[in-house]
Amino acid sequence: MANSIVWFRRDLRLKDNPALSAAVKNSDQVIPVFIHSPEEEKNWRPGEASDWWLHHSLLSLDQSLRKKGSSLLLKQGASLEVLTNLSKEFGVEQVYWNRLYDPEVVKRDKEIKQALIESGIKTESFNGYLLTEPWEIKNGSGECYKVYTPFSKNIFKTFSCPERFSEPKKILSFENIIVSRDKFETDLAALELLPSIDWDKEFYDHWSPGEQVARKVLSKFSSKADRNYSDNRDIPSIDGTSLLSPHLHFGEISPQEIWRSVSDSEISSSEKHAYLRQLIWRDFAFSLLFNFPKSSDKPLRSEYSKFPWKKNKKQLAAWQKGQTGYPLVDAGMRQLWRTGWMHNRVRMVAGSLLVKHLLQPWQEGAKWFWETLVDADLANNSMGWQWVAGSGADAAPYFRVFNPVRQGERFDADGEYIKKWVPELKDLPKKWIHCPWDAPELVLEEAGVKLGKNYPFPLVEPSEGRSRALEAYDNFKDLTAND
Ligand code: FAD
Repeated sequence: MANSIVWFRRDLRLKDNPALSAAVKNSDQVIPVFIHSPEEEKNWRPGEASDWWLHHSLLSLDQSLRKKGSSLLLKQGASLEVLTNLSKEFGVEQVYWNRLYDPEVVKRDKEIKQALIESGIKTESFNGYLLTEPWEIKNGSGECYKVYTPFSKNIFKTFSCPERFSEPKKILSFENIIVSRDKFETDLAALELLPSIDWDKEFYDHWSPGEQVARKVLSKFSSKADRNYSDNRDIPSIDGTSLLSPHLHFGEISPQEIWRSVSDSEISSSEKHAYLRQLIWRDFAFSLLFNFPKSSDKPLRSEYSKFPWKKNKKQLAAWQKGQTGYPLVDAGMRQLWRTGWMHNRVRMVAGSLLVKHLLQPWQEGAKWFWETLVDADLANNSMGWQWVAGSGADAAPYFRVFNPVRQGERFDADGEYIKKWVPELKDLPKKWIHCPWDAPELVLEEAGVKLGKNYPFPLVEPSEGRSRALEAYDNFKDLTAND
């Protein structure tokens, strides 16, 4: 037996945590540490909404560790230096962690592993983040899949969910690493994760970070036997989806735990399948990012780097603020700003409006989401934006332009979602709520809507937006025809 470090990263949980289980099993004393080193993630250091979540998740993890007789050691600085110094100070022989897959983190972790081994410290890492790791699922030619359906079929056929790693009953730690809760909170405040302006005030009404809540959210989701996920997941006005994405991103719950819970639930098998299919999109996204490490910044289909975007700061700002004049899109963008989350259907429509009707580069949208989503995730966000822009693997072709009015009529037929997030339109009859610019003067007047005053005209007229997008696409095809 020896002393060891458990290096917590995006696995902020005690249950079903392979690195923690192994450390507790094989060590006398365990040092649970979180190292705040955002600069090591280079261009993709976590955004403000993610930092908000991280702050609260660390608080929650520390609390759980205290119940086991330990606590969370918080450090700032270069990860390798912190791990090396701690190892020297406490005679640590082994460092345990769960693997991550973002390109910069993979590079850093490889270097750290090498350096630790060279200084005589053993390392062991585990999969605690994905159902299957990005190198596991290959097509018949031994390459990673670029199309989702065969990827998911392969997983449904071959994946066998492992047994849960048990939660340690007790975690023995050196007395001098266990600080008082007050000192922990001071150290946490020093990380300055909370925003300096209080744009996060409504987050508290919507979210409660931490492992305990993640498990409750999952059990609430999987205990509803008549859950109609496949239909409800597209309706933004209701809680038809699990809302697990930020908990998953921070590893407060493992995807295996979700797989087991949903599989063992009373939900019908077709609904289980529909849900697990979505969970597998997450593995697909990580497989793409790992195998195409530049896809967070550059189009996966390289010809799209020639796409004739028309950068326009004013239009981008109007989109960010939920002032495009398209009610469904504005509702989504305001939901995002106020809660740190946006419904998936609306992410697709809002993204499409930005890259097609407004011809703004998808990278601008991805950056905004990165700052404002509590579930901002490099793999999922990059895949989502490349899907929207048509430049990704298995993406919606660029020439398929979502009609933001039709999308509203289909998925928010009564305008409930719009009324919630765009209150200036709440008295418009449902006939006009998706296209206020078409409403008769009298209707607008009765609903208190003054277009151009308290709600904008559309940034671009719907059919003009569509034809501009298609024209840009034709130009792009001409540009790349001889490549
Ligand atoms: P559920 O429907 O309950 O799905 C369960 C889980 O499956 C999710 O928590 C998520 O981990 C995974 N999942 C579901 N849909 C997708 C998908 N399309 N792609 C990948 N994984 C999926 N998701 C993020 O987690 N982080 C992001 O930064 C992110 N950015 C996106 C950007 C765009 C432009 C688009 C179109 C989608 C993006 N998504 C992202 C995917 C999706 O919108 C969210 O995962 C989903 O809305 C989360 O809500 P939920 O947990 O209730 O989902």
